[in-house]
Amino acid sequence: MSDRFKLIRKPNNDPMNHITVHECGGVVYLTFPILEQLPGIVHGFSTRLGGVSQGDVGTMNLSFSRESSRQNVEENYRRLAKAIGYEPERLVCSRQTHTTNVRVVTEEDCGIGFCRSGDYDNIDGLVTNVPGIPLMTFYADCVPLLLADPVHRAIGCAHSGWRGTAANMGKAALEVMKREYGTEAKDVITAIGPSICQDCYEVSEDVIDQFREVYHRKIWPDLFYEKQNGKFQLNLWEACRQNFLMAGVLPEHISLPDLCTCCNPKFLFSHRASRGNRGNLAAVVMLR
Ligand SMILES: [Zn+2]
Repeated sequence: MSDRFKLIRKPNNDPMNHITVHECGGVVYLTFPILEQLPGIVHGFSTRLGGVSQGDVGTMNLSFSRESSRQNVEENYRRLAKAIGYEPERLVCSRQTHTTNVRVVTEEDCGIGFCRSGDYDNIDGLVTNVPGIPLMTFYADCVPLLLADPVHRAIGCAHSGWRGTAANMGKAALEVMKREYGTEAKDVITAIGPSICQDCYEVSEDVIDQFREVYHRKIWPDLFYEKQNGKFQLNLWEACRQNFLMAGVLPEHISLPDLCTCCNPKFLFSHRASRGNRGNLAAVVMLR
């Protein structure tokens, strides 16, 4: 299936890191092998394929603010929900602004972001232990984090761009899960989703300075390198993995992506590759 889309995959020997491509009724979406093994979890990550939007936001755009036709976006939400298998009316969506704020989602929140607007803003992470509530967060190069605690039956998803990564969004989500559900980091299964790879992600030194501040010097070579032009290439995937490790997640419980948004701009929305003219991808996770 993945050959059909001529995907550029990052070399990776671990089958847990080999993202699965699915097609259902024309909608193409992705899942993560490390989460597929958990019977109590429904999850998926959208691609550009299978929606009704046109042009730069074509076709599966999930951003209401990046497209004038609300009708198109609503149709995309319905198609994705049908393909992955959840009720779109029960969706609860983030309101991302590069914070590490995490919202504890309960039954009263159902519908926020799709059916109705909510009473919250500045929410980059969502957690719940209520079955049947799909949690949704949005992407176009930033890093999706998905978390599942099979012991306490709790889940989370969180948006980790460079700001959220330097501020350790992964740890923030785990702390809220511990406080609310008694989650122990050692039990948690995590997937780091499709996002911009190190080869595609050039940043300036002021960004790197923030990473130097929070990561130990000995892992800097794994996170970034300097180029002749004075810019740096930053590895957000490894930084997010380090965040989970520092928070107590076991190395064998962390999967990395083998798909970069910017390397595959026809298949996935990429802010960099499109110079900002793009729709939104979404990650969704739900307890059965
Ligand atoms: Zn790339």
